[in-house]
Amino acid sequence: MDITGRWWHLNWGGQARGNGWSGKRGMVFKTPNPWFPWNRLISGMEDLLFYTITEGKEMIPVSQFISALRSTGLLTSDPRLSDCMRQLRQSMQDSAGTVMMDPKLFRKCVGANILLLTQAFRRKFIIPDFEAFASNINQLYYSTQRQVGGHVADYIPQLAKFSPDLWGVSLCTVDGQRHSAGDTKVPFCLQSCVKPLEYAIAVHEIGTEHVHRYVGKEPSGLKFNQLSLDEEDKPHNPMVNAGAIVISSLLKVRGFLGVMEYLKKMSGTEYVGFSNATFQSEKETGDRNFAIGYYLKEKKCFPKNADMIAALDFYFQLCSIEVTCESGSVMAATLANGGICPITGEQVLSAEAVRNTLSLMHSCGMYDFSGQFAFHVGLPAKSGVSGAVLLVVPNVMGIMCWSPPLDRVGNSVRGIHFCQELVSLFNFHNYDNLRHFARKLDPRRQSLDDRVSKG
Ligand code: GLU
Repeated sequence: MDITGRWWHLNWGGQARGNGWSGKRGMVFKTPNPWFPWNRLISGMEDLLFYTITEGKEMIPVSQFISALRSTGLLTSDPRLSDCMRQLRQSMQDSAGTVMMDPKLFRKCVGANILLLTQAFRRKFIIPDFEAFASNINQLYYSTQRQVGGHVADYIPQLAKFSPDLWGVSLCTVDGQRHSAGDTKVPFCLQSCVKPLEYAIAVHEIGTEHVHRYVGKEPSGLKFNQLSLDEEDKPHNPMVNAGAIVISSLLKVRGFLGVMEYLKKMSGTEYVGFSNATFQSEKETGDRNFAIGYYLKEKKCFPKNADMIAALDFYFQLCSIEVTCESGSVMAATLANGGICPITGEQVLSAEAVRNTLSLMHSCGMYDFSGQFAFHVGLPAKSGVSGAVLLVVPNVMGIMCWSPPLDRVGNSVRGIHFCQELVSLFNFHNYDNLRHFARKLDPRRQSLDDRVSKG
């Protein structure tokens, strides 16, 4: 019987002791205190959850509890679990030898996390069988590792220094389930992956209408750093350099720290850094971007009183912001989750800003491969010259791939391969049919209605 089955057995079978349930379908409360039923209900839920996790045992080693927790996809570093982990550490400090988890310690640790943990152990997260899913991802990771083509960008030393063997992939679901494989703790610069993020912040701060007075929504069909504008003399879209430079000028008033604060919140306070050396090198080698800047100035693309050189400087700074695969995957998950960071629950960006961003990533995010990527992978993504690919499976998860060797158009060879393999295995392509297409796996939680209709 699975965990869900056991839960209901305990619940309706009345086997969980002293938990406030009547043992049949209903509760019996003997006190007029209005808070009392709530307390009884919570303590009943705690007992049920405890015996679900221990499979009916009176106590289990804490290490076993931690492994059970990890198997749901939750990390012990999850900010939502910080109180729970503090209590656990405390009891480990207070006692010598193996610490056992009994109902008393469990109640102390669970605290405000009862709903989160109940969801986790009753397999109510978006990916219910997370271990099976993670093992599929590991297989894709290893098969992708064998792709050895491409060249590491070498126009600045800060990119040229990276080994072509580096390869990492991290994912974070909309419920905050996490999995990582490979070099996922190494910092790298976002480069062009910052473009959708700065666009999302700009729309969140100043609105769709205002932002699109200055930049279009159409794929350019040209190289990302082309000196070219659409027929209204606006940059084609926010994913090409001209568009991102104009948006930098709109965001300039918020300052670098303002943007960093957004990114930090999107990453659930995980690693967000800055490479000053990259910033200086980008400026020194950025003749093309200066040319774009002067062209934009000549065509009056900037808002009134904007300082073109300051906007360029800001753009170079934004490209030099660092993340790791781990922190980048949480940022991508915030986009997958309508602007709410899954591991903090904070609404960082408006739903509208996120929807706009995903639309433009879908049509314009992958340089001159955008049309083919939309066709074959069918998911919003953005790549950068550092070898990063920020991928979003809307309403399911965010993924950050990173491997420095790039193909001819500038996309990470392993990043592209992984994305393609991912949608060959799972029905994540936007136009995969979720009801009748049986050749692919669907790791998502099925609604009860779906299950009933599928028999
Ligand atoms: N700093 C690079 C530029 O503006 C970004 C390149 C990229 O990642 O596409 O040229």
